[in-house]
Amino acid sequence: MDSNVITDLRQMLGEGAVILENEPLSRHTTFGVGGPAQVYISVNRQELIDILAYAKEKNIPCTVIGNGSNLLVSDRGIDGIVLSIGSRMNKVTLGPTDQEQVVITAEAGAVLPSVAREAAGKWLSGLEFASGIPGTVGGAVVMNAGAYGGEMKDVLRRVTVLKPDGTIEVVGVRDMKLGYRTSRFLTSDEIILDADILLTREDHDVILARMDKNANKRKASQPIGQRSAGSTFRRVDQGRGDAASNRMPAWQLIQEAGMKEASVGGAAVSEKHSGFIINKGNATATDVYCLIRKVQKAVKATCGVDLETEVRLLGEFPKEEEEQ
Ligand SMILES: Cc1cc2nc3c(=O)[nH]c(=O)nc-3n(C[C@H](O)[C@H](O)[C@H](O)COP(=O)(O)OP(=O)(O)OC[C@H]3O[C@@H](n4cnc5c(N)ncnc54)[C@H](O)[C@@H]3O)c2cc1C
Repeated sequence: MDSNVITDLRQMLGEGAVILENEPLSRHTTFGVGGPAQVYISVNRQELIDILAYAKEKNIPCTVIGNGSNLLVSDRGIDGIVLSIGSRMNKVTLGPTDQEQVVITAEAGAVLPSVAREAAGKWLSGLEFASGIPGTVGGAVVMNAGAYGGEMKDVLRRVTVLKPDGTIEVVGVRDMKLGYRTSRFLTSDEIILDADILLTREDHDVILARMDKNANKRKASQPIGQRSAGSTFRRVDQGRGDAASNRMPAWQLIQEAGMKEASVGGAAVSEKHSGFIINKGNATATDVYCLIRKVQKAVKATCGVDLETEVRLLGEFPKEEEEQ
């Protein structure tokens, strides 16, 4: 990247801006792995718009990340500018509260558990399923994040997006192509700026009890406290419908394939939940990637099923012949 880029960015964002060069993305992903971003900037809404326009003009690649809780970033890192949508873009605004249903508008960088707790504090139900999902609102829209019978699709009304041509558009829920852990935004290059979420009045204690129940289920079944990106693999379509509950959990196939205790380097299949690959502390992204491939090959050989990753891969990974 041209050395004037940093000077240009400083000029554009002002002297106080934090522009990090060669920033290890292991610091910004829940897996705790990943090489450097050439340039890393935590942005607010206007900075995001300005930087993307500048990068387009200069032909510099840009990658948007949220909380990095569904990402496997390669050890080689990411070229160009990584734009982090998080704590500088996380306002939550409540609509009129004199009705049974209330719209909250959350900026893309607001983190789901905080939004869910804030909603509960206002006696608003609908986000209980999301109270343990450690992503941002933007990441959750893109992934149609869900758990325990709920998903973003159930509560989303519309989102504001920044389109690749720099225009801003409002997209209604029907046009988002939300499905099991998918949306049109996975491939459209649109960036979520904020989301309108429709919630319903309910007793505060009832909402909190639901959240507690979900948290206890999570604690009992998932490797909380260990570094991961949640479920590594997507549940498998069995031809019974798109909903998560109609799909076969990946952990069943992983166990059937004898991969319950598989590991590569510092990456291992979690003892507590075979659907989670964890970083035992010293894993590289290549370890995680090679373990993913090992599990996929074993499941294919034993069960004849192609397991797809739910985790999003960013950057370059080893070619087939280089896999460990
Ligand atoms: C312990 C643990 C438990 C988890 N449990 C669940 C669960 O129960 N259910 C579930 O669905 N997921 C779960 N996850 C996965 C993850 O939290 C979700 O997928 C979450 O929605 C990802 O949000 P994020 O902000 O971290 O996105 P990132 O991981 O940062 O990004 C994910 C994708 O979204 C894109 N993106 C992010 N923000 C934007 C934006 N504003 N505009 C456009 N694109 C954007 C990125 O480019 C990337 O492609 C879990 C993860 C962990 C670590």
